[in-house]
Formats: sequence, structure tokens, C-alpha cells
Amino acid sequence: MTTFNIKNILFSLLAIMAIAIFMTSCEQESLVDIPEQIDTNFEEGHTCSDCMLYSTDEPDEIVDVLIQYDEDSDPVYEKAARYGEVIVYGGDVVLTQNYSDDIASRGAIISNFSRLWPNGTMPYTWGSGLSYSKKTQILNAIEAINTQANLCIVERTNETAYVEFRNNGGGCYVTQVGNSGTAKQTIHIGNDCYERQIIHEILHKAGLYHEQNRSDRDNFISVNWNNIKPSWRSQFNPRGVESSSGDYDFASIMHYQQYHSSLAVNSSQPLFFINSGVSLPAGMSSSYIGRVNNMSDGDIASVNTLYSVCGSGGGSSACDTPAVSEITYGDRDYLIYLYAYGYHGVSHQFRYRENGGAWIELPATSNYYSTITNVQANASYEVQLKLCDDNWSDSKIIRDNSSCNAPTASEIRYGEGSYYLYLYAYNYSGVRHQFRYRVNGGSWVELSVTTDYYNMITNKQSCATYEIQLKEDCSTWSDSKVISTGC
Ligand SMILES: [Zn+2]
Repeated sequence: MTTFNIKNILFSLLAIMAIAIFMTSCEQESLVDIPEQIDTNFEEGHTCSDCMLYSTDEPDEIVDVLIQYDEDSDPVYEKAARYGEVIVYGGDVVLTQNYSDDIASRGAIISNFSRLWPNGTMPYTWGSGLSYSKKTQILNAIEAINTQANLCIVERTNETAYVEFRNNGGGCYVTQVGNSGTAKQTIHIGNDCYERQIIHEILHKAGLYHEQNRSDRDNFISVNWNNIKPSWRSQFNPRGVESSSGDYDFASIMHYQQYHSSLAVNSSQPLFFINSGVSLPAGMSSSYIGRVNNMSDGDIASVNTLYSVCGSGGGSSACDTPAVSEITYGDRDYLIYLYAYGYHGVSHQFRYRENGGAWIELPATSNYYSTITNVQANASYEVQLKLCDDNWSDSKIIRDNSSCNAPTASEIRYGEGSYYLYLYAYNYSGVRHQFRYRVNGGSWVELSVTTDYYNMITNKQSCATYEIQLKEDCSTWSDSKVISTGC
């Protein structure tokens, strides 16, 4: 490609928004589901020089990109090239994986909060193909959301990013979950889409995935993989890196039906089973899963997790005092990311203190996160959030070391492999802790801090004496567990 037809690029951009990717080279069961993001630099007049970065090299593999997201329309896949973590579609559209596992909270919502609608406001316009009655249904759906949740869906004035409702055939689908940042983002509303499906599609665009994509869904349902058409299986991959909000919600308007003629190999068999011991909401029959007409309380809570400042669901006025629950964080050893994703697009500020010391204010921002950079290993952190006046929230405690344990050598278990020594600290699973060891009285070697229940020494020496010690991230080292390795 040496020249670019801007119209073609724009057409591609509008038509091609990818949600899920699976690898063609593997068997269908190992579908890889990758949350990704369209590069937002592709605007009219953009020279697309970035595109050329990838077009000259051999890709790592060819992948299929799912470009239509929903069960009401047959999936459409297109070939794309993967270079590391970058996906290039048609040579023009760059998709990048954008993982985020930083959210402490667990419906299934986007964890890439740059894809939120600023100020909780989603502007819309009317595209072609919509009848008067279809527009009326869309307006009813908009009103249902606007009057129940903290999201404002408003007619567009001059906002850059907006959604366009349109109909150029059958099917109800969006082209990307959340706000991709590109100018016009289509919500396709076919003649066969009714109000509950329209609400469902708008909530996708607000940032909600299907409920059955939740990372904890295997605790509630068992996917009947053999009965799902291969092209649809990726829609059942848990989004382990996505965050979820509240309890698993069978009443969610974002849940798939249990029986589905388009998705099922055999439509008399279910797409998933409800696990034994799991109960549906009172009064709800399994035949209503995926067929509810309005947002559930859980759906509203999911929207309100993402948006705090607009709408009739109790959104904050500009200077309310934030709730502690509106602060989430990601702990990365030397960095702590602080998120106030409900206030994306709204000026706000964090402050923190270490071990009860003096408050340190981070710069005010309207982005969705701030960062504590010089994090100390053994400290506990207290974090507060405010909006535009001095009404600081209550404190969120991060790395609470007030209940710090001092491990003993008896809490260290181990297993010996041919090349490894496995170290177990079952009592400290989920707690930041660390092992160190020395061989034959040599110098101490520290393993990395972990919250997992085990760690390992990879270069095990035979006929050697290992001394192992353990500490919580906030405590001192235990006494030594002495291990003699086999000869
Ligand atoms: Zn959907």
C-alpha cells in the first residue's frame, strides 16, 4: 500500500469494529478472546502512516476477527494479521490488545476505562433505514435507561464521539463494546429488534458485556460447548481480565438465553446448564433467562459502576462527596493505580498517606486514573477522593498492614522436583508475601513478592542444604526451614 483512499479507510473503520478474536490455527476449543481497541487515530485526513509500520513484516499469525457482536445476527469474521499484541485488519485498522486486570471489584463490564463515555453522556444521531415506529422503540429504550441509571443518552450537538442508530438489514448488534473513541459508532437496530434488544445493544455501547462472559460464571453455569456452533464459541469465553460488578445475575438483560436456534447445534439442547445448587431469582423461571424486558438491578448497578455523574439513577452532582466504593485500585508492587472511572471526564483528585503520615495530594485530573509512584513495600496506604471542593471521601485502605502476621518456619511447606523446589505458603494465599533462601549458608536470594499460595526455586541444586524463610510483605522474616535436597 503506498496510497490510501480516505473514504475507504473511513468505510473500513465504521464497518469493522472488532470485539473478539480467535486463532484459526488451533482447534476451536482453544479460542483466544482478546479485548482490543481500535486505534483512534484513524480520522479523516489522517495519513495512516502508522499502518505502514506493520504491513512490511510477516505477521506472527493470521487470526479471525469477529466484527459483529451479538447473538441476534450471524457472526461475521474477517482475516487479520497479528504482530505481537497488535492486530492489523485490512492493512488499515490497527487493533491493540489492551489488558487491564487492575480492578479490585469483580454484570461483566469493560475494564478499559478509556472506553467510557465522558461525563456519562452518550450522544446519538439517527442514521438511515429506521421507520417511525422503530425510532419510537429506540426512544423508549433510551428513556428506560435515562430514567433508571447514571447514563445520559442525548441527541448529539457537536460531540466528536457519538453513536448512530441505523438499520441496513436484519439483526441487532453493535460494532464494539464501549466508546471506541472514533467519531461515529453504529448501533444496528434491524426490523426484528425490539425494545429489550435495543436496551441490550445500548448497554453494550455503554460498556457492558454479556453476563455469561463474566470470569466467575463457571460457578453458576456450565457451558455446553458441544452444542454451540463453533463460530459462536468465543462468545462464551470468560473475560478473565474484565471486571464484573455484583453477584452473577440471571435476570440481566445482558444474559444469553438458555436455548437458541441460531447458536445451538441442536436447538432442543441448551447452550448452558445451570449448576446444581445455584438458584434463580425468586419467581424467575429458567425460560426467562435472556428474555427479560428491562434492566435488572444488577444491570443498573453495572452501569452505575461505570458512570457516576449523569442520569436519573442517582448520579452525583458536580461537587458531591464521592463514596469510598467509587475508588478502585490496582496494586503493582512499586505502583498503585487509583481509579475513579465513574468520574472520567470530570475533574477530581486523589490524596493518600502512608502509614498514617501526612496527606499527599496527587494532581487533579479528569482522566479515569491516577498513580502513586513511590510505593513502599511494607507500608499501608489510605486513599481519599474528592471532586471540585474539599469534601474528601472516606478512606480506602490499601495494603492494610495493621493485622500483619509474622510467619513461622512451620508454615513453610515444600515439594522437591528434579529441577525445582516448590515452596508453599497456604496460610498466605491472597496476602502479599515473599520467600527468600540460601544454599549451603551462602547469601540470601529473595523470590518475588506474590499473593499466590506457592513460589518456586528454579535452579535446584542436588545434595545441598537450603534454608528457607518467609515473611508477609509487612513483617520480618520467619525463622529458617532447613531442607536437604536429594543426591
Ligand atoms: Zn449482546
